[in-house]
Amino acid sequence: LFARHWDFITSVKEMHQLPDLGGVEIAFAGRSNVGKSSLINKLTERKALARTSNTPGRTQMLNFFGAEHTQLRIVDMPGYGYAEAPKGMVDAWTTLIFKYLRGRSTLRRVFSLIDARHGIKKNDLDAMGILDKAAVPYQVVLTKADKLKPGQLERVKEDALKILAKRPAAHPEVLATSSEKGTGMDELRAEIALLVSY
Ligand code: GDP
Repeated sequence: LFARHWDFITSVKEMHQLPDLGGVEIAFAGRSNVGKSSLINKLTERKALARTSNTPGRTQMLNFFGAEHTQLRIVDMPGYGYAEAPKGMVDAWTTLIFKYLRGRSTLRRVFSLIDARHGIKKNDLDAMGILDKAAVPYQVVLTKADKLKPGQLERVKEDALKILAKRPAAHPEVLATSSEKGTGMDELRAEIALLVSY
């Protein structure tokens, strides 16, 4: 799945621009700077694939990636939580995301990225609220795990699991990853491969 050559497919700002349904989608969500681009690049072994998502004009869009001869599409969701984001932009984000989440029958899971140093914050909870409301399964993936000592990481994981236990659409397991060190990539790839196989 990830040995293939991954490419950018399209950017979507409005629902009518969505690519036709086909195969299986997984999406990545998280606060700006959480390490989402780095994780997608690492996962697909493309050094700058997800940079396309961070180019001006694309940061507010859903960005789709695909590879030849695979059923899987990766969707890079716009980062949230810009301190300076005007309310209108936040509302537009919420509207597009909710419509996409609600209407996308091929979307199997959203990976909700959380910076391991910070844990789950208010705006992460807001995003999870949207996922719960849309009834889309999501799984928390801690990023930048290399920044913590093993004991600290365990505590962050446990805290996250406690929060997730009360959330209807949350997956009951948390993955810890580091794009820098490659930690957790095999587990994440295995998790995705499972989602594609049924
Ligand atoms: P995005 O805004 O969520 O796409 O975040 P980026 O992937 O651009 O990463 C934001 C910052 O975090 C950059 O400076 C990265 O170098 C850094 N970063 C990303 N992943 C890791 C990681 O696994 N470990 C460490 N230590 N830093 C990381």
